Amino acid sequence: MLSRWDDAGPAGLSELDLLVYASRLIGSEPSLVVWGGGNTSIKSVERDYRDRAVRVLRVKGSGSDLKSIQKKDFPGVRLDDIHALLDRQDMADQEMVSYLAHGLIEPGGARPSIETLLHGFLPHYAIVHTHADAIVSLTNTDRPRATLESVYGRDVIRLTYRRPGFRISREVADAVAANPGAKAVVLEKHGTINWGATVREAYEATIELISRAEDAIAARKRGRRVFGPPRVGPLAPAERRALAVALAPRLRGRLGPSRRVILTYDDSPAVVEFASSPEAATLSQVGPSTPDHTIYTKRLPCCVPVERADDPEALWAAVDRSLEAFVKDYTAYFEANRFEGAELVDPLPRVVLVPGLGMFTAGRDRRTSGIVSDIYHHTIDVLGSASLFGQYMSLGAKDAFDVEYWPLELYKLTLAPPEKELARRIALVTGGASGIGKAVAHTLAAAGAHVVVTDVDEAGATRAADEIVTRVGGGRAMGIAMDVTSESAVRAAFEATVLAYGGLDILVSNAGVAHSAPVVRMQLGDWLHSFAVNATGHFLVAREAMRTLVAQGLGGALVFVATKNVMSPGKDFAAYSAAKAAEAQLAKVLALEGAPHGIRSNIVNPDAVFRDSKLWSPDVRRERAAAQGIDPDDIEEFYRKRNLLAVRILPEDVAEAVLFLASDRSSKTTGCTLTVDGGVKDAFPR
Ligand code: ZN
Repeated sequence: MLSRWDDAGPAGLSELDLLVYASRLIGSEPSLVVWGGGNTSIKSVERDYRDRAVRVLRVKGSGSDLKSIQKKDFPGVRLDDIHALLDRQDMADQEMVSYLAHGLIEPGGARPSIETLLHGFLPHYAIVHTHADAIVSLTNTDRPRATLESVYGRDVIRLTYRRPGFRISREVADAVAANPGAKAVVLEKHGTINWGATVREAYEATIELISRAEDAIAARKRGRRVFGPPRVGPLAPAERRALAVALAPRLRGRLGPSRRVILTYDDSPAVVEFASSPEAATLSQVGPSTPDHTIYTKRLPCCVPVERADDPEALWAAVDRSLEAFVKDYTAYFEANRFEGAELVDPLPRVVLVPGLGMFTAGRDRRTSGIVSDIYHHTIDVLGSASLFGQYMSLGAKDAFDVEYWPLELYKLTLAPPEKELARRIALVTGGASGIGKAVAHTLAAAGAHVVVTDVDEAGATRAADEIVTRVGGGRAMGIAMDVTSESAVRAAFEATVLAYGGLDILVSNAGVAHSAPVVRMQLGDWLHSFAVNATGHFLVAREAMRTLVAQGLGGALVFVATKNVMSPGKDFAAYSAAKAAEAQLAKVLALEGAPHGIRSNIVNPDAVFRDSKLWSPDVRRERAAAQGIDPDDIEEFYRKRNLLAVRILPEDVAEAVLFLASDRSSKTTGCTLTVDGGVKDAFPR
């Protein structure tokens, strides 16, 4: 590992800015720390609220992430208060948290890291603590002592695993005091502690320590295959993706009957190699490589035992049996290790390894399922590297449980904002690049859904998805080119949705075109095109959605954006009105066919939504104006005055109705038509 310290970069920075700089360098190296792991600190003299000089520890706050850390994420704790604890032999976690809260320089600031005392008890100016893959690869075996000595001689102090908290902090401080020549502390099955008289020294010492471990691993790896040849023949990428598409919705349904998950498929070479290897079945069941991984991945993944991966039904049966066994084993693990106050909320796996296929990871959102996936990639690295030095060992079941259910770790998870109405839901919107579709995509995303924006206009779909991501966060939307009239394009878009998110909960079938001409002058091509988009297009997307929803077994909501013309057609608008009537009838039949599966199908009838609309092309405006006998420039005003409330109908108004029908607020409504037209008497549903 190379130092990334840039001599010019941090020149002239304040002490705390320098700590932020170094912390981000460490955080940007995923083999050092992943997702919130590791922490850093400095000790300096600051002025307190009464302008007195006080010695302060600035340490990473609980729940922040080193790669994006900011100054505000380093709460200050009075060092006098920390040093006063050196008289003690032990301290309960909760007492430690309350105690440190009293020592904060800024009242109400971020809660300091669970590992604060580890930093505060050491005398050095700067401290860097990582959970480096290379180090746990050396310590997580049956012979950590011999391995560490062969790599580091007497340069490092080795401490056996103990959960983060007061006692490990005390042990580190005592060990460092007793070994003044040591360059670092290695915590077995946990990570590293380095120090320095400057932030740079502590950073460079970390890089040097890790580099020596990496060199030792590389020397062992030379010419050797880490995992054995595949037990289950690897499938070609297209084959395994097709199987993953078939498997994912069923798996998502099975993982989330009470709380839905977002499920991410991963078939990167390292994952497929490990999942298909002869070692996976045993090695994956030993335990996590560091305690903090447990929070995201649970102690163990579900490893599906299959001999062949090419038969979907046999594969599903094997997955189903493995999940059942996982729940049983997990419940037993909970019962065996539970302590007072611990509650079993979710006995299902977060990582599912399928030989020949790869890995599925589950989380509350795409970001979390991605974190779980990232962490398991590191676990695979460590499993492979550690096996070069001995038999892989992990923290035991009790230690893993104590971390998984540790109130202080669970606290970090509570920092996330409460879940929104459509959290954990996946929605696909057609015609999402503009107008009503775009407003719907934004509205559903704002309500918490993951949104797949599809449109024939690929750039527009991507742009709309990017806007959503900017507003609500990474992973929450993607844009896909999809022509609703193309069976293969529709199938491909649904497959991409399933591979990215694991399934579907909501379809908003909205894409449409308008064509205006009296019947006697209408070209057959125009009629057929209107039917292709406004009728067959809805059939193609609804059929694909139904297949996914039924396989998933979690119910679902289909919302069809139709038109006021279904109830009250306009003259010179036959191709549009007739095709949209077919759409509405399709929606009603789907209410009948979907009901046994908990799938609701409803219709929104908007009228005259002009803003950002591709439906109202200049030609259509002109022709509709002619049909109404008015000037094209007056058309928006004409339609406004035509409705009872005399209001303009905006895309957001329609999106609000779609949100209602897509959400559980309308859980007892199906086969219904909701108008968003300002009130048009002839178009009242009846
Ligand atoms: Zn740690």
